[in-house]
Amino acid sequence: MPTPISQGQLFVVSAPSGAGKTTLIRSVLSKWPDLRFSVSCTTRTPRGDEIPGKDYHFLSQEEFIQGIRRGRFLEWAVVHDAYYGTDGDIIRRWLLEEKDVLLDIDVQGARQVRCHYPFAKTIFVLPPSLDALENRLKMRDSDAPEKVARRLSAAIAEIQEAPWYDFVIVNDNREDAIADLDAILRACRCDRFHQARWLGSFLEKQRG
Ligand code: 5GP
Repeated sequence: MPTPISQGQLFVVSAPSGAGKTTLIRSVLSKWPDLRFSVSCTTRTPRGDEIPGKDYHFLSQEEFIQGIRRGRFLEWAVVHDAYYGTDGDIIRRWLLEEKDVLLDIDVQGARQVRCHYPFAKTIFVLPPSLDALENRLKMRDSDAPEKVARRLSAAIAEIQEAPWYDFVIVNDNREDAIADLDAILRACRCDRFHQARWLGSFLEKQRG
């Protein structure tokens, strides 16, 4: 029996801004210490308490465009007037090292990742309603009213993409949504494709 190629699993989480995705991701990362989080590159300016290298790699537009030309990014997109992208080398390395990897990227990036990694598990986080989303966006003091309006209309467009994701989480209650994301990761790790290597060697031993 041939040994299946073993790789880590790639999880892609997308959501309109204000859906509470960052909180969910932080929570599962603290519960799953072996899950690798991809720190994206962006040309947007850092917000209040963001730490370069931890929250984002903050690049100049020139650096980012040079990165595109050199094929640095697994995927990249323009989101809210800034460039965002995922470093390809580190993702490929982690997956080959059989590490599971989580990407927090927008719908354009998710589509690109799906092309490169058709087995990536995609998860979309929805707000409970558009009113709730608008309220959450307004409560973010760093965003001016016109930015809120733009983010809301971008959110409506992004939500149209939710149906093609593998999983959809409605973030109405934070604890439930965290439990949902945790359950998805847990179930995906039991996926027969993911377990193929172990199953293969188990069956091989049984045959003697
Ligand atoms: P924020 O600036 O609020 O942190 O993120 C804005 C949007 O950009 C979010 O939807 C976030 O998921 C997305 N984003 C963050 N990093 C990446 C990335 O590397 N690639 C893509 N395509 N989107 C990203």
